[in-house]
Amino acid sequence: MSSNGKYVYLQTFGCQMNVHDSEKMLDILAEHDYRPTKDIHQADIILLNTCSVRAKPEHKVYSALGRLGKLKEKKNHLIIGVGGCVAQQEGKRLLDRVGHLDLIFGTHNLHRLPELIHDVQASEGPVCAVEFRDEVKSLDVFPMPSNGSKVKSYVTIMQGCDNFCSFCIVPYVRGKEKSRPSENIIGEIGALSERGVREVTLLGQNVNSYGKNLPGALAFPQLLARINEIEGIWRIRFTTSHPKDISEDLIGAFGNLEKLCKHIHLPFQSGSDRILERMNREYTRKQYMEKGEQLRKVCPDIGITADVMVGFPGEDEGDFHATLDLIQRVQFDNLFSFKYSPRKGTEAAHFPGQIDELTKSRRLRVLQDLQKEITLKRNRALKGRCEDILVEGASKGSKEEMTGRTSSNKVVNFKGGLELIGRLVKVRIEEGYANSLRGKVI
Ligand code: SAM
Ligand code: SF4
Repeated sequence: MSSNGKYVYLQTFGCQMNVHDSEKMLDILAEHDYRPTKDIHQADIILLNTCSVRAKPEHKVYSALGRLGKLKEKKNHLIIGVGGCVAQQEGKRLLDRVGHLDLIFGTHNLHRLPELIHDVQASEGPVCAVEFRDEVKSLDVFPMPSNGSKVKSYVTIMQGCDNFCSFCIVPYVRGKEKSRPSENIIGEIGALSERGVREVTLLGQNVNSYGKNLPGALAFPQLLARINEIEGIWRIRFTTSHPKDISEDLIGAFGNLEKLCKHIHLPFQSGSDRILERMNREYTRKQYMEKGEQLRKVCPDIGITADVMVGFPGEDEGDFHATLDLIQRVQFDNLFSFKYSPRKGTEAAHFPGQIDELTKSRRLRVLQDLQKEITLKRNRALKGRCEDILVEGASKGSKEEMTGRTSSNKVVNFKGGLELIGRLVKVRIEEGYANSLRGKVI
């Protein structure tokens, strides 16, 4: 290991996959003695790991980059790099908008960061690496926490997506769907368990189709069954599932794998068949609701959450009410709801019937008010129940309070000391709020 003693400041935008990619970046850089810092003024290298799934996170990246220009003026040797989805999408074009950039690295190149930083230091001009690779090496980069430092961890099982939903930029910026060999995943989780990790969340854009096109790979339910056998791992979660690929075996796994948490994130996007078809989602509202019913039959306590959007091109009041109706019928535990945002290069960006901002905002407000009521009702209904909670750490509000999650993925706060961290405790739920629960250790 060289001893360059340089500091890296890394800012992450977007989803869990980006959060985990950022952990990978810091890990790779640490091997080359780049130390992480939270103080941007201390940094020798500033990296932004970006998201382009909607216009809002993308705009945030450009504003952050604008501010960094002033820092660069004061600190000549500062290296500023952009990675992730905006980097992949824009490539060299980013240089036209942001003159003070030194490095652009795409979603298939994060494992090359040290080499790319070296290239920046050795060259006169900016460096850009955004080519897609057949063999996605970054899939097999995995940061290992130091012993006992982490209770839960993300594990990448695949990357990319072949679905091409008409609104979505992901297949263009993350490339074709690629699964990671099952043995590598199992090996990583075994090593995590030896370091004290008790809960793993398997990550991929469409985990249900894990193993497709990878000779020798297990199917997703079989992969879960193998992970279920790993000693020291107590809880398994995964995200994200696509409703069209959710198999009977996977639904059955919620009934027969004791470590599989009772929670599924199953985005539905719209409750209108007409809109679902235009979105290229390949399921109907009826099929979606049937999957929900089957899941609740196998596992009555399962927490169901989803993504939904309003204002997709052509969505009329009837379509919107079909979405509200589906929400009423399914009774989700929580929803991530978005206004449709046209993405350059996607099919839907050119569809007729684009909806104005005011209508999108109004529909979003109505939808969120409805979901707030349902979430509160479902949280209050847990009053008096006894839940297993994996204690993650001190709660944000108070040092005397600990926080953790139910198997169904609801946040619970309760009185307790730091010695509980990493333990599975029984908590009686005393109150249900809009965003969390409160309870007492028993
Ligand atoms: N793979 C997941 C699936 O199939 O549902 C979704 C991944 S996407 C990164 C996360 C969420 O962002 C989507 O479920 C969708 O609700 C939202 N999203 C994606 N593209 C969007 C767009 N153009 N405008 C608004 N929301 C969008
Ligand atoms: Fe995007 Fe659809 Fe793939 Fe999800 S399944 S990442 S929404 S294209």
